Amino acid sequence: MSDEPREARAPTGTRDVLWPESWRWEVLVATFAGQVEAAAYGLVLNPMFEYASVFRRGIGDDSDVVGKEMYEFADRDGQLLALRPEGTASVVRAFVQHHPVPPYKAWYVTPAFRHERPQAGRYRQHHQVGIEALGVADADLDVEVVALADGFFRAAGLSRFVLKVNSMGDGTCRPGYLALLAEVLTERRDQLCDEHRDRVAANPLRVLDCKRPACRAATEDVPRLVDHLCDACRVHHRRVLEGLDALGVPYEPDHRLVRGFDYYTRTTFEFASAAIEAAQNGIGGGGRYDGLVEMLGGPPTPGIGFGIGIERVLLACDAEGALPAVPPALDAYVVDTAGGVAARDLTAELRRAGLRADRAFEGRSMKSQMKTADRSGARLALIVGPGEQEAGTVSVRPLRGDGEQRSVPRDQVVDVVRAARGEERP
Ligand SMILES: [Zn+2]
Ligand SMILES: [Zn+2]
Repeated sequence: MSDEPREARAPTGTRDVLWPESWRWEVLVATFAGQVEAAAYGLVLNPMFEYASVFRRGIGDDSDVVGKEMYEFADRDGQLLALRPEGTASVVRAFVQHHPVPPYKAWYVTPAFRHERPQAGRYRQHHQVGIEALGVADADLDVEVVALADGFFRAAGLSRFVLKVNSMGDGTCRPGYLALLAEVLTERRDQLCDEHRDRVAANPLRVLDCKRPACRAATEDVPRLVDHLCDACRVHHRRVLEGLDALGVPYEPDHRLVRGFDYYTRTTFEFASAAIEAAQNGIGGGGRYDGLVEMLGGPPTPGIGFGIGIERVLLACDAEGALPAVPPALDAYVVDTAGGVAARDLTAELRRAGLRADRAFEGRSMKSQMKTADRSGARLALIVGPGEQEAGTVSVRPLRGDGEQRSVPRDQVVDVVRAARGEERP
């Protein structure tokens, strides 16, 4: 075990988010909550760690996320645990454990832990918001789920992103397609990338999904799953696309959009930002997983959901100039050079009245307190020196824009601050 570094710093691949940048996180999460709760999704809180088997079964042993990146450890009791690498498996595990009456519609906000190679836009602890809807196979639910993700991105101020949609078929139609795809790709084995040349038959969908130019070229004109769907999957897929059209949600069909595990069925989708570079432009994605509840020990239950990466969304916001880190200003800063009683009582009154107020402590000089008041970004300084104290007044000094300092009776100060805030609102 290597020594811990002595200097105070966050572990490799992690970061702290300080104010005011953290204010954007508050806005994003509140925006997300507002959108999905309006569609009857309720917050679910899961542990940050699970028995490792939950993710091994729920995401898949041979996925990179589980096989190469998951933080897995035995705790002091020798139980094999893993830090949550994504959101879905824990929510589905909780559904199996508590069996709420379906349809079960839940949303989450969670850190996700992956031991990735540190690089721009990738963190070993990143954060996701997402929803899961369990117990409904209706294609209109797919439309609802995709539209909620689209609506969230737009509410965050993004417009330069692309939604890609595909169908994975199901247990009826996919096996035949996979055999066909494996056959075609085996004929083209020599054209594939090094990783996939010898493993075509094991998982031909991986080849379809491969980003390397060799595999991209070799799969450009292979048979497409959407052309080999069974009747039920075809009807479902058509209904999804019709619904997105009806709701005005733009999308592009993408036959490469596949997931390599059997419990993924039918609708699959991804959002990519056109404003940030391709290596990290995936801002969210999801799909239907009608086999996952059974995989985790529950009864056959259809399900669909998505996860959205908060850090990626913020990168896209930066690139599009959306959601600047400008929190609402303080309404007032109390400058008290008469012993601090006014500062103590006035800030409390202002805050009880729903106003944002701060003050200086430790009886510092007028000059020092005014400097702090300026730096605080407050609209008004409320100044109480011995003169004001004596007269029962407060000197109200605008700190931004024009406006004269004026003397206000102590008992009218809260109203004056509230009125000043009202005037500045558009
Ligand atoms: Zn490849
Ligand atoms: Zn099918």
